[in-house]
Amino acid sequence: MRLLILAQPVPPRALEGLGHFMEERSVDTPFGTVGPVALRRPSQGRDVWILPYFGGPARTDPRATLWAAKSLGVQRMLAWDSVTGLDPALKRGDIVLPVDYIDWTKHQPTTFFAKCGAGYIAQTPPFCPDISAAIRQHLPMARPVIYLGGEGPRHETAAEAAMFQQWGAQVRGLNLVPEAYLAKELELCFAAVGVVTRLGADRQRSQPTGQVRAADQSILGALAAIFSDLPLAPECGCDHLQAGPRQRGTLPANWREWG
Ligand SMILES: [Zn+2]
Repeated sequence: MRLLILAQPVPPRALEGLGHFMEERSVDTPFGTVGPVALRRPSQGRDVWILPYFGGPARTDPRATLWAAKSLGVQRMLAWDSVTGLDPALKRGDIVLPVDYIDWTKHQPTTFFAKCGAGYIAQTPPFCPDISAAIRQHLPMARPVIYLGGEGPRHETAAEAAMFQQWGAQVRGLNLVPEAYLAKELELCFAAVGVVTRLGADRQRSQPTGQVRAADQSILGALAAIFSDLPLAPECGCDHLQAGPRQRGTLPANWREWG
């Protein structure tokens, strides 16, 4: 099963390419209710759940998002994020492929391992190689970037934007961290594609001229192919925990007790 996390608002009819709408449901988790998530079924290929992820209560606790995905039987998660372009080479409407991240969130500790104490999951590769490869293939213009995971509800200051760039971050967003490492804890594949929708606070404003809409159309046109290209059985290794104390194992059957 696949899940699209939709942090860039697009009208539901724009998602017809992922299949016909089948049902909508909310998922209760120990960390709050997630949804509604909508199920779409293509004429060929596998079903895709779609979770809107902007501005709403879905942001309350990212653990709820990952927990809900696991409960729905999802293995592959693709997040479509809207990001701030920090790197001066990036402009509005550029499509980016996050290849690594810096965690600049404050809601620590956020982990499923508070009770079982496994922890210390390897973060290399930071994002699922299978999904990232499919994104590269179908959106060849997507630029590999280092992603700074921040928190809302505010934009960065100009001083922060300059600091993030010194660290090597090229874009800043609010929707991939801690989701990326929570996915690893639950042995789920997680990767993302982003669209630059605004420029960093230390950069000159640019007038919208439809570049973001054009980027959205490119991604909408590629989503179904990205999902259908993924191998049925993950070849990426994301479905095995890569934790220190537990070494390379699998999630215990009683994972639900971690909540
Ligand atoms: Zn994977």
